[in-house]
Amino acid sequence: MKKQKLPRKHIPQRTCVGCREVLSKKELVRIVRTSEGILVDPTGKLNGRGAYIHLQKECWERALKGSLSKALKTELSEQDKKYLEAYELNLPESTSRLQD
Ligand SMILES: [Zn+2]
Repeated sequence: MKKQKLPRKHIPQRTCVGCREVLSKKELVRIVRTSEGILVDPTGKLNGRGAYIHLQKECWERALKGSLSKALKTELSEQDKKYLEAYELNLPESTSRLQD
């Protein structure tokens, strides 16, 4: 945990709640806990406690088993789970198969 002085602007690093890989946040999507429930926040601008995750099913499956609710410090409601599972259906199996 040494602090390094970098000559250029530091790129924020985030941990995927699914696989725990640390990446620049551009490569992950934010999930945020709002007063109305859990939302996927591609803009990263919504207020609330957020977590970051890869856009791939593998990571969502792991996250939905518990790490997401821990990261957001909340229990996922049935509605939240349905919302996230519906979102997950549209995701590729893995990033190596990402389609443009
Ligand atoms: Zn991941």
